[in-house]
Amino acid sequence: MRATSNSHNAVRETLRKLEAKAKVCQRCRLHKTRTNVVFGDGPPTAEVMIVSEAPGFWEDQRGVPFVGASGKNLNALLLEAGLRREEVYIANTLKCRPPGNRDPLPDEIEACRSFLEEQISTIKPKLVIALGRISAKELLGRHVVMGREHGALLDCTYAGASFKLFLTYHPAAALYGAETKQRLQADFRKLGSVLKSLT
Ligand code: SF4
Repeated sequence: MRATSNSHNAVRETLRKLEAKAKVCQRCRLHKTRTNVVFGDGPPTAEVMIVSEAPGFWEDQRGVPFVGASGKNLNALLLEAGLRREEVYIANTLKCRPPGNRDPLPDEIEACRSFLEEQISTIKPKLVIALGRISAKELLGRHVVMGREHGALLDCTYAGASFKLFLTYHPAAALYGAETKQRLQADFRKLGSVLKSLT
């Protein structure tokens, strides 16, 4: 028990130091326009991790991923899978908001990569949910067409850590149409069955 709590403390401390580095990071142009660095949120010993794209307006304002309406959407989807947000560690591919919520640029993803790598290699999740094609591409190292691959469960190794990777749309995609919203909900219901099979 003591060893477990010591290792949890070590993980927490590693993440705390990494977050401190991210908060002063100026490795890409986004440091000039950010309000806050959005490092990550959740228990450092989570078995399930979400990797999304980048902070949006409210995330940038508050320094926390998936707050406001996007947070409510995500929480509702997690419930479809039988998960509570408090059980999941949430990180983004980029830790600073691209102006106007534009797509991250390749050099920004490259500059920010070591933060995500260290988060994943430290947390060592059993399962990662990639929300959207940007994070799926980062984790798999290849282009992903979400319309074809959403709902897939793949083996993935990233930053030396091996885990199951579940692919689905970014929750914001649901705003563009009822069909995508239904696909997202179905994916998260499927994720619920996947999680049961992993335990
Ligand atoms: S996006 Fe990442 S690399 Fe760019 S300034 Fe923010 S923390 Fe640094």
